[in-house]
Amino acid sequence: MIDLDVVIVGGGLAGCRAALEILRQDPSLKVGLVAKTHPIRSHSVAAQGGIAAALQNVDTEDSWQAHAFDTVKGGDYLSDQDAVAILTQEGPEVVIDLERLGVLFSRLEDGRIAQRPFGGHSHQRTCYAADKTGHAILHELISHLLESGVQLFDEWYVMRLIFEENTAQGVVMYRLTDGAIEVVRAKAVMFATGGYGRVYNTTSNDYASTGDGLAMTAAVGLPLEDMEFVQFHPTGLYPVGVLISEAVRGEGAYLINAQGDRFMANYAPSRMELAPRDITSRAIVCEVMAGRGVNIDGSAGGPFVHLDLRHMGKEKILSRVPFAWEEAHRLVGIDAVYEPMPVRPTVHYSMGGIPINTDGRVRSSATGLTEGFFAAGEAACVSVHGANRLGSNSLLECVVYGRRVGASIARYVQDRALPTVDAVVYLQEARETIQGLLDRTGEYRINEIRTAYQDCMTEYCGVFRTEERMQRGLLELKALQEKAERIQMQDRGQVWNAELIEAMELRSLLLVGEVILTSALARQESRGSHYRDDFPERDDRDFLHHSLVNIVEGAVVRSTMPVVIDMFEPMERKY
Ligand SMILES: Cc1cc2nc3c(=O)[nH]c(=O)nc-3n(C[C@H](O)[C@H](O)[C@H](O)COP(=O)(O)OP(=O)(O)OC[C@H]3O[C@@H](n4cnc5c(N)ncnc54)[C@H](O)[C@@H]3O)c2cc1C
Repeated sequence: MIDLDVVIVGGGLAGCRAALEILRQDPSLKVGLVAKTHPIRSHSVAAQGGIAAALQNVDTEDSWQAHAFDTVKGGDYLSDQDAVAILTQEGPEVVIDLERLGVLFSRLEDGRIAQRPFGGHSHQRTCYAADKTGHAILHELISHLLESGVQLFDEWYVMRLIFEENTAQGVVMYRLTDGAIEVVRAKAVMFATGGYGRVYNTTSNDYASTGDGLAMTAAVGLPLEDMEFVQFHPTGLYPVGVLISEAVRGEGAYLINAQGDRFMANYAPSRMELAPRDITSRAIVCEVMAGRGVNIDGSAGGPFVHLDLRHMGKEKILSRVPFAWEEAHRLVGIDAVYEPMPVRPTVHYSMGGIPINTDGRVRSSATGLTEGFFAAGEAACVSVHGANRLGSNSLLECVVYGRRVGASIARYVQDRALPTVDAVVYLQEARETIQGLLDRTGEYRINEIRTAYQDCMTEYCGVFRTEERMQRGLLELKALQEKAERIQMQDRGQVWNAELIEAMELRSLLLVGEVILTSALARQESRGSHYRDDFPERDDRDFLHHSLVNIVEGAVVRSTMPVVIDMFEPMERKY
């Protein structure tokens, strides 16, 4: 058994920022950081467009209050406003702190950090490092972390949260390289395990975004919050789904349909291409459904629309959004200086997640708060994004709440003893789980079930939803869950058994999908990213609340939680 003061699962921006803060506050603490990839390969590294903060470098009229209002309005009034106030007030400070760590932000002529426009933000406030912002921040954080004395467990897959008597006591983890299993015991456990884009068949997320942390939390009977809110990013490159950053529209690109029209004029005339993502994604799907999408040969009636950069000119394209140009060129052979890019919505972000308070403490439906259990980043729901996240607010959330939760953990563990954990029992259970999977000789390949499942979620719980379709989706999902018990393993080895990890990830994906569908069925209104054709209006009377879903002995239990509204009263959301 490995004993630590704190174990953090997740080496993305949230996990790394928290680890750094814990060790800044108290360098004597033993902090372990576990990741199933190398931390540098966490999805955060792929973040492109930038990080929002009201620095007022470009727009002196900006303020944290304006940023807070945009965030709450963007989230269709489901954000907890106390959490948003923290996010936006601490924004400038954390960005300056990142700069001091050495992050190479793009600059204005006078040397201050540059800021660009972004969807749903009323002021020009997104700081960036060209269109490779996540890369610039994560590399700098990890190099500082490596000097901080943190113990790194990379390429370890955490398969279970140890949670007894309302207290998180550690985790059980499996090493990819040689199949070793370890029990980690700690005074505090933090989940920063990122999103679940792989629940869907078209996503901008990396292969590791399988919602493991959410599934492990649900597996111990704790709730997940607001899981019906799945963000579709409007501009996934067709057909691969890889992200073309919103920065491209921030820098002036147009969305054009098969008739050559800038169709956003019909959906969000005041913001055009820089409307929030839920509205822009729905607009694209509507254009495609109305026959105004484009085909590969340029004719009408196809599955995508065009993102046109040509008027921006070569110099601006290559200096401001070089990565977007490179991706379109490399992946679909388009030179965006001369041709428009084919785009359609792609699953991008999870607004919901593990419910936490503003100090990162995980909430339980039964007891209020849990002991020893913390979360931050995309896996958590604090909730700043409400029903729809604004671009460049997620990196900010990871850094603000990563830092904040780190500080809160450093305080929390001071007067705590290590819990008593029966390592023998947990080791035995983990060995049985793994052997049980390795011994599977059923008739289905993992890949087959995963693909059918991703198609099911995309078809029945996508951009537009109805009761009937989601019920069908739930039935299909149940059938797939049964089939998943009858998988066939080809690799029975212990060394680098990627198939075994895929089998464990499949369990996470299926569980997370069930929670998404269940939450989406219960919310009989349209709000933010959750659009119901059968309930097209927002309904503040019956649904201005957070939804919580617990799995108790295999059965789904739903409850609700009030939204904190202490700054901005809900209004109609118009752009
Ligand atoms: C292509 C792309 C571009 C984006 N661009 C922007 C942007 O410009 N601005 C913005 O604000 N947001 C952006 N986002 C969103 C933002 O990048 C993410 O929400 C954020 O980086 C998530 O960080 P995180 O630390 O929560 O998780 P991640 O960076 O996803 O890290 C998760 C970590 O958890 C580990 N992990 C997961 N499960 C396990 C397990 N079972 N065992 C061990 N380890 C595990 C992984 O190995 C990884 O280290 C973008 C997202 C994508 C996909």
